[in-house]
Amino acid sequence: MPTTFPHMLKPLDLGFTQLKNRIVMGSMHVGLEDRFYNYGKLAAYFAERARGGTGLVITGGISPNRQGWLLPLGGTLNRYGDVINHRRVTQAVHKEGGKILMQILHAGRYGYHPFAVSASNSKSPISMFKARAMKDSEILSTIKDYGRCAKLAKLAGYDGVEIMGSEGYLLNQFICNRTNRRTDRWGGSVENRMRLPVQIVKRVRQEVGADFIVMYRLSLIDMVENGNTWDEIVQIAQALETAGITILNTGIGWHEARVPTIVTSVPRAAFRKVTARMKKELKIPVMASNRINTPEDCEDIIASGDADLVSMARPLLADPHFVNKAAAGEPEAINTCIACNQGCLDRTFSLKRATCLVNPQAGHETERVYVKTTRPKKIAVIGGGMAGLSCATVAAERGHQVTLFEGGDDIGGQFTLAMNVPGKEEFRETIRYFRHRLKKTGVTLELKKKVSAQDLKNAGFDEIVIATGVQPRIPAIPGIDHPKVLSYPDVLRHGKKVGHRVAVIGAGGIGIDVSEFLLAEHSPQPLQAWADEWGVDFSSAEPGGLRAPKREQPLRKIYLLQRKPGKKMGQGPGKTTGWVHRLALQHHQVKMLGGVEYLKIDDLGLHIRIDHEEQILDVDHVILCAGQEPVNDLLPVDANGKIKDKRFHVIGGAKLAGELDALRAIHEGAALAAAL
Ligand code: NAP
Ligand code: SF4
Repeated sequence: MPTTFPHMLKPLDLGFTQLKNRIVMGSMHVGLEDRFYNYGKLAAYFAERARGGTGLVITGGISPNRQGWLLPLGGTLNRYGDVINHRRVTQAVHKEGGKILMQILHAGRYGYHPFAVSASNSKSPISMFKARAMKDSEILSTIKDYGRCAKLAKLAGYDGVEIMGSEGYLLNQFICNRTNRRTDRWGGSVENRMRLPVQIVKRVRQEVGADFIVMYRLSLIDMVENGNTWDEIVQIAQALETAGITILNTGIGWHEARVPTIVTSVPRAAFRKVTARMKKELKIPVMASNRINTPEDCEDIIASGDADLVSMARPLLADPHFVNKAAAGEPEAINTCIACNQGCLDRTFSLKRATCLVNPQAGHETERVYVKTTRPKKIAVIGGGMAGLSCATVAAERGHQVTLFEGGDDIGGQFTLAMNVPGKEEFRETIRYFRHRLKKTGVTLELKKKVSAQDLKNAGFDEIVIATGVQPRIPAIPGIDHPKVLSYPDVLRHGKKVGHRVAVIGAGGIGIDVSEFLLAEHSPQPLQAWADEWGVDFSSAEPGGLRAPKREQPLRKIYLLQRKPGKKMGQGPGKTTGWVHRLALQHHQVKMLGGVEYLKIDDLGLHIRIDHEEQILDVDHVILCAGQEPVNDLLPVDANGKIKDKRFHVIGGAKLAGELDALRAIHEGAALAAAL
């Protein structure tokens, strides 16, 4: 009987069925849902989460008809012929003792195709296609399509459906004045605006009967102008409850909102009190979501009565065995999601299959398999950064005898710089995870050990992995030795004092990190500070839950510079997080300059030229964030750069410093270890 997380692990009785615990894998598009030939992989993906103890999983969005597609030819369930594919998924989950819902998603004006429809003629700021207003007859046939879709889902063996009514998709577009300008029975008053979702729930219930879960994801804060007020949201939730939903799931923010809702800098469990407020208004179970990633928070949310269930999507992508590890009293073994979006959403939005930065197997359960070795080898891994840690632990897990050498006094490499950046504290969890994993897999760790080529020659290793990482690039600018000049490790690791006026050379991921580090103020109430910065009103007294932001004068005057021309700066971080960083820098009045030519650094500051015009940036310090160079001097190479000794391998930044990121490092390390 588990003792560590009793509330989180307590079953939930829904009357006609029981969920074995309170953890739900929320819906997330992984890119396997859209093609029937990927359903075997999709089945393995969900089965792994069910095997790991998750009580209930929810699929990515499946459309009830063609107009509802998110992407052209996106996953649709409206024909009996498709049931068989879905059955592979439901059977795999049930075999592992889990339950599964299918999410029904109509993208509305977020549809990336010319058939997109919405409540009114409109185009979202994040779409290419203009959506057409639905006719009354189309609305009625869409209600029928939802009903048929749910009925087919039941036939396919799902335990229920989730109706996606948040994040700005079709049903959200109907219930908000922002996008619904109709004057017929589907627009105007809140009763009219919620008519479509309510009719859909009634129709779905009629088609599936009483013994089937109907979950509804409702936007509890829209975070866009002209969204709903709290009173309207409560009225809608109560109407949905009366119409027959089993569980209400929390949705936060539209996709087009300019307030971050899930990235690392959003405080953990930021929206739990919004869910708690809604729970008081309903009799049915209510589920919390967004930026919840530890069993401690899950337990606290359930134990305190803020919610009945907790939804996590990315944390279960990162570690499918999250629940079992917590239940075994081993939460430190959990590979925690760091909310970076690099492996998952950034890839999904680039139309690639999702995986996870910290878990290369995610989304590739049938392909990236770590097979136990029958010929254990003696392996040396040099470098305790992300590439080395990943390689050493996977190789040891496979049964090899691994020694990891690290020249510094701790593991983590470049990653330990990122974790000092405010809003990136989650990165510490990955270091904690690897520390635990090294012990668990039996890797011998030798810290403060600078290995020489001679050491490697004499030690009799069968395989030698060079994962020695990178060093900061020092650009050839006259005056680069001036005392004003600092490197990014000087600032992020060594805590060198930095003045009030600063020029940052290089506007990649690290230049942005350094700028955010230099602007950060410590707040005793991080959630309040975050809401003040982004103008969030948790009470949604005003439509959309937005208010005027409260921002302090910035701590420093920062110039963020790059040589590439153009206004689009700070393209380093990913597709789904870059805008958050760029906006945060704008909030702090960072001056971003592109097309810069660096002339010299002297007592007056940094001399630059832009568009043939010279200027001097009168700064106290110039911080170099100009990329990196590989460190790989232990690699025995011939005159052509070819590795001379077959035992040697090179991974991560040591192999290629350009475009290095933690995802590539971890994935390359694991891939090599799987093949050794
Ligand atoms: P980066 O993204 O490649 O950026 C390097 C910057 O230095 C660029 O702005 C480049 O712009 C400039 N630069 C390059 N050579 C230069 C030279 N010789 N003189 C002056 N400027 C020069 O590298 P990074 O910022 O060091 O980041 C390393 C990796 O970590 C990247 O892959 C990055 O995406 C990743 N990372 C990601 C995040 C995240 O939040 N997702 C955060 C940190 C790091 P110009 O050439 O135009 O001047
Ligand atoms: Fe979490 Fe990043 Fe993995 Fe996505 S890629 S699941 S955000 S750790």
